[in-house]
Amino acid sequence: MKESDSIWMDGALVPWADATVHVLSHGLHYGTAVLEGTRAFETATGPAVFRLDEHLRRLFRSAAMIGLSIPYTMDELRAATLETVRANGHPSCYIRHLVHRGYGEMGIAARGCPVTVSIATWEWGALLGAGVRLMTSSWRRNDHTVVPTAAKATGPYLNSVLAKSEALDAGYDEALLLNASGYVSEATGANVFVVRDGRLFTPPSSAGALEGITQDTVERLAADLGVPVARQDLLRSDLYAADEAFLCGTAAGIVPVFSLDNRELGGAGPITGKLADAYDAAVHGRDDRYRTWLTPVTT
Ligand code: PMP
Repeated sequence: MKESDSIWMDGALVPWADATVHVLSHGLHYGTAVLEGTRAFETATGPAVFRLDEHLRRLFRSAAMIGLSIPYTMDELRAATLETVRANGHPSCYIRHLVHRGYGEMGIAARGCPVTVSIATWEWGALLGAGVRLMTSSWRRNDHTVVPTAAKATGPYLNSVLAKSEALDAGYDEALLLNASGYVSEATGANVFVVRDGRLFTPPSSAGALEGITQDTVERLAADLGVPVARQDLLRSDLYAADEAFLCGTAAGIVPVFSLDNRELGGAGPITGKLADAYDAAVHGRDDRYRTWLTPVTT
Protein backbone atom coordinates (compact mmCIF):
# COMPACT_ATOMS: atom_id res chain seq x y z
CA MET A 1 0.00 0.00 0.00
CA LYS A 2 1.44 3.33 -1.09
CA GLU A 3 1.04 6.24 1.33
CA SER A 4 -0.79 9.32 0.06
CA ASP A 5 0.17 12.92 0.83
CA SER A 6 -2.82 13.89 2.96
CA ILE A 7 -5.66 12.56 5.07
CA TRP A 8 -8.77 14.60 5.90
CA MET A 9 -9.33 14.74 9.64
CA ASP A 10 -12.03 16.72 11.44
CA GLY A 11 -12.33 19.40 8.80
CA ALA A 12 -8.82 19.78 7.38
CA LEU A 13 -6.26 17.93 5.29
CA VAL A 14 -3.23 16.90 7.35
CA PRO A 15 -0.03 15.12 6.24
CA TRP A 16 -0.41 11.31 6.23
CA ALA A 17 2.05 10.88 9.15
CA ASP A 18 0.17 13.39 11.31
CA ALA A 19 -3.24 11.68 11.08
CA THR A 20 -2.88 10.06 14.51
CA VAL A 21 -5.14 9.42 17.52
CA HIS A 22 -4.63 9.03 21.28
CA VAL A 23 -4.00 5.51 22.61
CA LEU A 24 -6.93 5.92 25.02
CA SER A 25 -9.43 6.55 22.21
CA HIS A 26 -12.73 4.85 23.01
CA GLY A 27 -12.97 3.31 19.54
CA LEU A 28 -9.65 1.55 19.98
CA HIS A 29 -10.73 -0.07 23.26
CA TYR A 30 -14.37 -0.89 22.54
CA GLY A 31 -14.83 -0.88 18.75
CA THR A 32 -17.06 2.19 18.71
CA ALA A 33 -16.51 3.28 15.14
CA VAL A 34 -18.21 3.00 11.77
CA LEU A 35 -16.46 2.90 8.42
CA GLU A 36 -16.96 2.94 4.69
CA GLY A 37 -14.92 1.57 1.82
CA THR A 38 -15.54 3.36 -1.45
CA ARG A 39 -13.60 3.54 -4.71
CA ALA A 40 -12.76 6.18 -7.28
CA PHE A 41 -12.17 4.77 -10.77
CA GLU A 42 -10.49 6.14 -13.87
CA THR A 43 -12.94 7.28 -16.52
CA ALA A 44 -12.39 8.98 -19.88
CA THR A 45 -13.09 12.33 -18.22
CA GLY A 46 -10.92 11.82 -15.13
CA PRO A 47 -11.36 10.03 -11.80
CA ALA A 48 -14.91 9.55 -10.50
CA VAL A 49 -16.23 8.12 -7.24
CA PHE A 50 -18.61 5.18 -7.64
CA ARG A 51 -21.92 5.45 -5.76
CA LEU A 52 -20.54 7.99 -3.30
CA ASP A 53 -23.93 9.05 -1.94
CA GLU A 54 -24.98 5.45 -1.26
CA HIS A 55 -21.76 4.89 0.68
CA LEU A 56 -22.24 8.09 2.68
CA ARG A 57 -25.86 7.23 3.40
CA ARG A 58 -24.78 3.81 4.70
CA LEU A 59 -22.16 5.55 6.88
CA PHE A 60 -24.90 7.68 8.46
CA ARG A 61 -27.17 4.62 8.88
CA SER A 62 -24.34 2.63 10.49
CA ALA A 63 -23.63 5.53 12.86
CA ALA A 64 -27.31 5.75 13.83
CA MET A 65 -27.41 2.02 14.51
CA ILE A 66 -24.56 2.21 17.04
CA GLY A 67 -25.63 5.55 18.52
CA LEU A 68 -22.91 7.76 17.03
CA SER A 69 -23.78 11.25 15.90
CA ILE A 70 -21.70 12.43 12.93
CA PRO A 71 -20.85 16.12 13.37
CA TYR A 72 -20.97 16.83 9.59
CA THR A 73 -23.69 16.83 6.94
CA MET A 74 -23.82 14.59 3.87
CA ASP A 75 -22.93 17.59 1.71
CA GLU A 76 -19.89 18.38 3.85
CA LEU A 77 -18.64 14.79 3.76
CA ARG A 78 -19.24 14.53 0.00
CA ALA A 79 -17.18 17.69 -0.56
CA ALA A 80 -14.47 16.52 1.85
CA THR A 81 -14.23 13.16 0.08
CA LEU A 82 -13.77 14.74 -3.33
CA GLU A 83 -11.28 17.25 -1.89
CA THR A 84 -9.18 14.42 -0.41
CA VAL A 85 -9.06 12.39 -3.65
CA ARG A 86 -8.23 15.56 -5.60
CA ALA A 87 -5.54 16.73 -3.17
CA ASN A 88 -3.75 13.41 -3.41
CA GLY A 89 -3.81 13.42 -7.21
CA HIS A 90 -5.06 9.83 -7.49
CA PRO A 91 -6.04 8.56 -10.94
CA SER A 92 -8.02 5.91 -9.01
CA CYS A 93 -8.07 4.95 -5.35
CA TYR A 94 -9.73 3.30 -2.39
CA ILE A 95 -11.42 5.68 0.07
CA ARG A 96 -11.77 4.86 3.77
CA HIS A 97 -14.18 6.92 5.84
CA LEU A 98 -13.90 6.33 9.58
CA VAL A 99 -16.05 7.85 12.31
CA HIS A 100 -14.80 6.90 15.76
CA ARG A 101 -15.20 7.83 19.38
CA GLY A 102 -12.00 9.46 20.50
CA TYR A 103 -10.23 10.21 23.75
CA GLY A 104 -12.36 11.51 26.60
CA GLU A 105 -13.62 9.60 29.60
CA MET A 106 -12.36 6.03 30.03
CA GLY A 107 -14.93 3.27 30.45
CA ILE A 108 -17.61 1.59 28.39
CA ALA A 109 -20.22 4.33 28.84
CA ALA A 110 -18.72 6.42 26.00
CA ARG A 111 -19.95 9.67 27.57
CA GLY A 112 -17.71 12.63 26.96
CA CYS A 113 -15.78 10.98 24.12
CA PRO A 114 -15.61 13.25 21.08
CA VAL A 115 -16.49 11.89 17.63
CA THR A 116 -13.65 12.09 15.11
CA VAL A 117 -14.16 11.81 11.36
CA SER A 118 -11.39 10.94 8.93
CA ILE A 119 -11.13 10.24 5.21
CA ALA A 120 -8.03 8.43 3.99
CA THR A 121 -7.30 7.46 0.39
CA TRP A 122 -4.72 5.22 -1.19
CA GLU A 123 -4.09 3.45 -4.47
CA TRP A 124 -5.13 -0.19 -4.10
CA GLY A 125 -5.54 -3.02 -6.61
CA ALA A 126 -8.32 -5.62 -6.52
CA LEU A 127 -8.17 -7.31 -3.15
CA LEU A 128 -8.82 -10.97 -3.96
CA GLY A 129 -7.16 -11.50 -7.34
CA ALA A 130 -8.76 -13.43 -10.22
CA GLY A 131 -10.67 -15.94 -8.12
CA VAL A 132 -10.91 -17.46 -4.66
CA ARG A 133 -10.66 -20.80 -2.94
CA LEU A 134 -13.12 -20.57 -0.05
CA MET A 135 -13.43 -22.53 3.16
CA THR A 136 -16.48 -22.62 5.40
CA SER A 137 -15.37 -20.88 8.56
CA SER A 138 -15.64 -22.53 11.94
CA TRP A 139 -16.66 -19.07 13.18
CA ARG A 140 -20.36 -18.22 12.78
CA ARG A 141 -21.37 -14.74 11.54
CA ASN A 142 -22.26 -12.16 14.19
CA ASP A 143 -25.90 -12.55 15.09
CA HIS A 144 -28.33 -9.63 14.76
CA THR A 145 -29.50 -10.29 18.34
CA VAL A 146 -25.96 -9.53 19.55
CA VAL A 147 -24.84 -6.57 17.42
CA PRO A 148 -26.55 -4.69 14.58
CA THR A 149 -25.12 -6.73 11.69
CA ALA A 150 -26.31 -4.23 9.07
CA ALA A 151 -24.04 -1.57 10.61
CA LYS A 152 -20.58 -1.37 9.07
CA ALA A 153 -19.02 -0.94 12.50
CA THR A 154 -15.45 -1.79 13.49
CA GLY A 155 -16.20 -3.89 16.61
CA PRO A 156 -18.06 -6.60 14.69
CA TYR A 157 -15.17 -6.88 12.20
CA LEU A 158 -13.29 -9.00 14.74
CA ASN A 159 -15.58 -11.78 13.49
CA SER A 160 -14.26 -11.24 9.94
CA VAL A 161 -10.65 -10.98 11.09
CA LEU A 162 -10.87 -14.33 12.92
CA ALA A 163 -12.50 -16.04 9.94
CA LYS A 164 -10.04 -14.57 7.43
CA SER A 165 -7.01 -15.57 9.52
CA GLU A 166 -8.35 -19.08 9.95
CA ALA A 167 -8.87 -19.42 6.17
CA LEU A 168 -5.41 -18.06 5.30
CA ASP A 169 -3.72 -20.26 7.92
CA ALA A 170 -5.47 -23.28 6.43
CA GLY A 171 -4.18 -22.40 2.93
CA TYR A 172 -7.42 -20.94 1.49
CA ASP A 173 -7.93 -17.41 0.15
CA GLU A 174 -11.11 -16.44 1.94
CA ALA A 175 -13.79 -17.65 4.37
CA LEU A 176 -17.49 -18.26 3.87
CA LEU A 177 -19.39 -17.41 7.05
CA LEU A 178 -22.60 -19.16 8.02
CA ASN A 179 -24.96 -17.51 10.48
CA ALA A 180 -26.08 -18.97 13.81
CA SER A 181 -28.87 -20.89 12.01
CA GLY A 182 -26.41 -22.38 9.54
CA TYR A 183 -27.49 -20.35 6.51
CA VAL A 184 -24.91 -18.67 4.28
CA SER A 185 -24.24 -15.10 5.36
CA GLU A 186 -21.30 -13.66 3.42
CA ALA A 187 -17.51 -13.67 3.10
CA THR A 188 -15.28 -11.66 5.44
CA GLY A 189 -15.44 -8.50 3.34
CA ALA A 190 -17.75 -9.31 0.44
CA ASN A 191 -21.25 -10.55 -0.34
CA VAL A 192 -21.87 -13.87 -2.06
CA PHE A 193 -23.96 -14.81 -5.10
CA VAL A 194 -24.86 -18.24 -6.46
CA VAL A 195 -25.90 -18.95 -10.06
CA ARG A 196 -28.26 -21.84 -10.66
CA ASP A 197 -30.18 -22.59 -13.87
CA GLY A 198 -29.55 -19.08 -15.17
CA ARG A 199 -30.85 -17.37 -12.00
CA LEU A 200 -28.96 -15.46 -9.33
CA PHE A 201 -29.41 -15.90 -5.59
CA THR A 202 -27.88 -13.92 -2.74
CA PRO A 203 -28.56 -14.02 1.03
CA PRO A 204 -30.73 -11.23 2.52
CA SER A 205 -29.28 -8.87 5.11
CA SER A 206 -31.35 -10.74 7.74
CA ALA A 207 -28.80 -13.58 7.24
CA GLY A 208 -26.27 -11.29 8.96
CA ALA A 209 -24.78 -9.95 5.72
CA LEU A 210 -23.90 -6.33 5.12
CA GLU A 211 -26.25 -4.51 2.74
CA GLY A 212 -23.56 -4.42 0.07
CA ILE A 213 -23.52 -1.61 -2.44
CA THR A 214 -21.82 -3.88 -4.98
CA GLN A 215 -24.49 -6.48 -4.22
CA ASP A 216 -27.12 -3.88 -5.06
CA THR A 217 -25.16 -2.90 -8.19
CA VAL A 218 -24.99 -6.55 -9.31
CA GLU A 219 -28.75 -6.90 -8.84
CA ARG A 220 -29.36 -3.89 -11.07
CA LEU A 221 -26.86 -5.06 -13.71
CA ALA A 222 -28.39 -8.54 -13.67
CA ALA A 223 -31.89 -7.13 -14.13
CA ASP A 224 -30.66 -5.09 -17.10
CA LEU A 225 -29.06 -8.24 -18.56
CA GLY A 226 -32.34 -10.12 -18.13
CA VAL A 227 -30.98 -12.43 -15.42
CA PRO A 228 -33.53 -13.03 -12.61
CA VAL A 229 -32.25 -12.33 -9.07
CA ALA A 230 -33.65 -13.30 -5.68
CA ARG A 231 -32.57 -12.58 -2.13
CA GLN A 232 -33.16 -15.74 -0.17
CA ASP A 233 -31.56 -17.92 2.46
CA LEU A 234 -28.91 -20.21 1.02
CA LEU A 235 -27.38 -23.38 2.36
CA ARG A 236 -23.71 -24.22 2.20
CA SER A 237 -24.72 -27.10 -0.08
CA ASP A 238 -26.30 -24.59 -2.50
CA LEU A 239 -22.74 -23.48 -3.20
CA TYR A 240 -21.49 -27.04 -3.59
CA ALA A 241 -24.24 -27.60 -6.18
CA ALA A 242 -23.99 -24.18 -7.86
CA ASP A 243 -23.35 -23.72 -11.57
CA GLU A 244 -21.31 -20.63 -10.64
CA ALA A 245 -20.66 -18.57 -7.53
CA PHE A 246 -18.94 -15.27 -6.97
CA LEU A 247 -18.10 -12.74 -4.27
CA CYS A 248 -18.60 -9.03 -4.68
CA GLY A 249 -17.55 -5.93 -2.81
CA THR A 250 -15.98 -2.55 -3.33
CA ALA A 251 -12.45 -3.70 -2.49
CA ALA A 252 -12.76 -7.07 -4.23
CA GLY A 253 -14.86 -6.23 -7.30
CA ILE A 254 -16.61 -9.29 -8.75
CA VAL A 255 -14.55 -12.40 -8.03
CA PRO A 256 -15.37 -15.97 -9.10
CA VAL A 257 -15.40 -18.66 -6.42
CA PHE A 258 -13.13 -21.45 -7.70
CA SER A 259 -13.93 -23.86 -4.88
CA LEU A 260 -15.58 -24.20 -1.48
CA ASP A 261 -14.06 -26.65 1.01
CA ASN A 262 -11.97 -28.05 -1.87
CA ARG A 263 -15.04 -28.86 -3.96
CA GLU A 264 -14.41 -27.36 -7.38
CA LEU A 265 -17.11 -25.06 -8.78
CA GLY A 266 -15.66 -24.93 -12.26
CA GLY A 267 -14.10 -21.45 -12.30
CA ALA A 268 -15.51 -18.28 -13.81
CA GLY A 269 -18.76 -19.10 -15.59
CA PRO A 270 -20.60 -17.16 -18.31
CA ILE A 271 -22.99 -15.23 -16.05
CA THR A 272 -20.21 -14.18 -13.66
CA GLY A 273 -18.20 -13.10 -16.71
CA LYS A 274 -21.05 -11.01 -18.14
CA LEU A 275 -21.69 -9.33 -14.80
CA ALA A 276 -17.99 -8.62 -14.28
CA ASP A 277 -17.81 -7.00 -17.74
CA ALA A 278 -20.96 -4.94 -17.08
CA TYR A 279 -19.56 -3.85 -13.70
CA ASP A 280 -16.24 -2.87 -15.26
CA ALA A 281 -18.05 -0.77 -17.89
CA ALA A 282 -20.26 0.89 -15.23
CA VAL A 283 -17.46 1.85 -12.84
CA HIS A 284 -15.27 3.22 -15.63
CA GLY A 285 -18.08 5.30 -17.12
CA ARG A 286 -18.31 3.32 -20.38
CA ASP A 287 -22.04 2.64 -20.02
CA ASP A 288 -24.24 5.74 -20.06
CA ARG A 289 -27.08 3.93 -18.29
CA TYR A 290 -25.05 4.01 -15.07
CA ARG A 291 -23.50 7.50 -15.38
CA THR A 292 -25.48 8.79 -12.40
CA TRP A 293 -23.56 6.35 -10.21
CA LEU A 294 -20.36 8.31 -10.86
CA THR A 295 -19.38 11.56 -9.14
CA PRO A 296 -16.50 13.27 -10.97
CA VAL A 297 -13.63 14.21 -8.68
CA THR A 298 -12.65 17.33 -10.58
CA THR A 299 -15.23 20.08 -10.40
N1 PMP B 1 -19.71 -7.65 3.55
C1 PMP B 1 -18.72 -7.19 4.34
C2 PMP B 1 -18.53 -7.81 5.67
C3 PMP B 1 -17.90 -6.14 3.90
O1 PMP B 1 -16.90 -5.69 4.68
C4 PMP B 1 -18.10 -5.59 2.63
C5 PMP B 1 -17.23 -4.47 2.15
N2 PMP B 1 -17.74 -3.23 2.55
C6 PMP B 1 -19.14 -6.10 1.84
C7 PMP B 1 -19.92 -7.13 2.33
C8 PMP B 1 -19.42 -5.54 0.48
O2 PMP B 1 -19.99 -4.27 0.58
P1 PMP B 1 -19.81 -3.17 -0.55
O3 PMP B 1 -20.20 -3.82 -1.82
O4 PMP B 1 -20.72 -2.09 -0.15
O5 PMP B 1 -18.37 -2.79 -0.56
